Amino acid sequence: MELKELIKKIEDIDEYAREFLKNFEIKKEGNFFVFVAPDEEYKSWLHTIVENFLDEEYRKAVRIENKKERKKEEIKDFLNPRYTFDNFIVGKGNRFAYEVVKEALENLGYLYNPVFIYGSVGTGKTHLLQAIGNEAKKRGYRVIYSSANDFADEMVNYMKEGRINEFRNRYKSVDLLLLDDVQFLSGKERTQLEFFHIFNTLYILEKQIILASDRHPQKLNGVSDRLVSRFEGGILVEIELDTETKLKIIREKLKEFGLEPKSEVVKYLLENTKNVREIEGRIKLIKLKGLSAVPERKEEKSKVDKIIEFVANYYALKTEELLSDKRSKRISEAKHVAMYLCRKVCWASLIEIARAFRRKDHTTVIHAIRKVEERKKKDRKFRHLLAFLEKQAMEKL
Ligand code: ADP
Ligand code: MG
Repeated sequence: MELKELIKKIEDIDEYAREFLKNFEIKKEGNFFVFVAPDEEYKSWLHTIVENFLDEEYRKAVRIENKKERKKEEIKDFLNPRYTFDNFIVGKGNRFAYEVVKEALENLGYLYNPVFIYGSVGTGKTHLLQAIGNEAKKRGYRVIYSSANDFADEMVNYMKEGRINEFRNRYKSVDLLLLDDVQFLSGKERTQLEFFHIFNTLYILEKQIILASDRHPQKLNGVSDRLVSRFEGGILVEIELDTETKLKIIREKLKEFGLEPKSEVVKYLLENTKNVREIEGRIKLIKLKGLSAVPERKEEKSKVDKIIEFVANYYALKTEELLSDKRSKRISEAKHVAMYLCRKVCWASLIEIARAFRRKDHTTVIHAIRKVEERKKKDRKFRHLLAFLEKQAMEKL
């Protein structure tokens, strides 16, 4: 589509258009023709024409801005050009996420909406969000990247200054909204409400929304049901680091840092890292100090083990005692409470819990959790104790 053609169309609709358009700054940004109006009056004039008289094809390619707003809008989008699709290493565990995000870019707003990516820390979620953000920006789309925490802080700041409408408008005017670390929405009710409205507006306008979280939407404690159901309404994509991909990433990253992928280095990295962030960190250390100077990773305790230890501590038991087959009242109660918390706080699977408690199968776990639930209903003191332990455990993990 040519700009000339477009202007001709506008002139066909309003015979004074040529005169008016002289006051606009007109330029091409990626796929868009941007008309920067000198003021609100000119802006709404053009807006009326575009919205009411132009064909869809033209309408979609036109963006009208007000010079004054544009100045204000040149705020940071928080995109970091370091993250691209090209430097994202693709393997089994992240291929699906990679492909969905690339397809979303080609069909922005109407193929998969929203895209919800979840997976543990350091698996490349932020990298993918930033990659699509950078690419979309290059193509002229309006993009904002934000983490849920920053989003919340920003909202509060705007509110304090009495400029909440500006905040809303800024988010509601994007073509692509990237919200990272969605788990941090947890417990922030006001932020959730604000985001809910922004989400709905963008969704109705067929603007693309991509979210990333360290857990499945169903496991987002403290996030309202209606938001969770929105998150699940598009496409859910899990991202993980399988060994094969990990190996590929280790080799590539070594090259990137100018190191030989010697087998001992590769083996060391494979055994001493859990995610890509750690791989990068270790490689930097190796580059600096040499392999022999870099210590082995201390095996970190699993969350379930941490809960067991925490509960044992509270009941003044040794971990071994809590896990033993002894059936004193205190030990049984501690055991049941610990199983309950493993489920409630870290969302461990029944099998995982059974294993940690050295059980052959998970029926004991189900039984224990049920017992706790029942007692919770009847026993007010116990209910308070659970709430207290739950809160403490959350903070510890
Ligand atoms: P997450 O957001 O899932 O916690 P990040 O996207 O921040 O993880 O990734 C951590 C680091 O690892 C970043 O520097 C990122 O560029 C890098 N990284 C992650 N996955 C890949 C990948 N598949 N290929 C290349 N680099 C990756
Ligand atoms: Mg991240």
